[in-house]
Amino acid sequence: MDHLKDTYRHQGKRKLLIAELKQMGIQTQAVLDAFYSVPRHFFMDLALDDLAYTNAAFQIGSGQTISHPYTVAFQTELLEVKSNMKVLEIGTGSGFQTAILCALGTKVYSIERYQELHLKAGSVIKHLNYDARLRYGDGFLGWPSYAPFERIIVTCGAPEIPTELKKQLAIGGIMVIPVGEGAEQKMLKIIRQSNTQFYEQQFGTFKFVPMLEQKVSIKTSEK
Ligand code: SAH
Repeated sequence: MDHLKDTYRHQGKRKLLIAELKQMGIQTQAVLDAFYSVPRHFFMDLALDDLAYTNAAFQIGSGQTISHPYTVAFQTELLEVKSNMKVLEIGTGSGFQTAILCALGTKVYSIERYQELHLKAGSVIKHLNYDARLRYGDGFLGWPSYAPFERIIVTCGAPEIPTELKKQLAIGGIMVIPVGEGAEQKMLKIIRQSNTQFYEQQFGTFKFVPMLEQKVSIKTSEK
């Protein structure tokens, strides 16, 4: 972990990235501030250190990618979090989005289906002293023992809105989820208005790795 050093050079690059995100339309100051406080290069291979603050997605192992900074910023802005909120994230991946949510003062519960990624993200999150709960398991099932969640964010392309996640969203809560089975997904923001009513808004098209169902049964591990 000796590459986990945050230098002035990295911080300078973060400032430029934040300026770019602003230009692209991200307006929420707290979200931009969170991007300044989280060193994205910690969540990527050392070989990619120089590219960590470019607005692009990169391989993180297990055939998965860390999302574009703009996509992370866009989803986070749509989620409208306030500190101390309970947030469920599906698709921990590198853990970068998890860290952004932690930097915003929320209590994050994040699920990942690849153990390798789950473990790697956990060590970086711990190194940064963030207190997120990470689980190795199937996001389609949500995390019933901690439900309801005030916010739910899905960071992989879902074929449809998983029923369990709808059930675990608090009334008045918001879910941000990219939905679509092809190469592209529509970004949906869903507000749970009552037990049975969900209000849905659509926000552009994005490209995510697919949300896949667990093929083999795995034991879930929590920490
Ligand atoms: N938030 C991540 C994005 C990673 S890409 C980041 O900032 O790096 C999406 C992740 O969703 C991948 O790691 C993929 O393995 C995971 N994923 C896909 N289907 C899943 C499922 N059913 N349950 C949990 N995680 C899933």
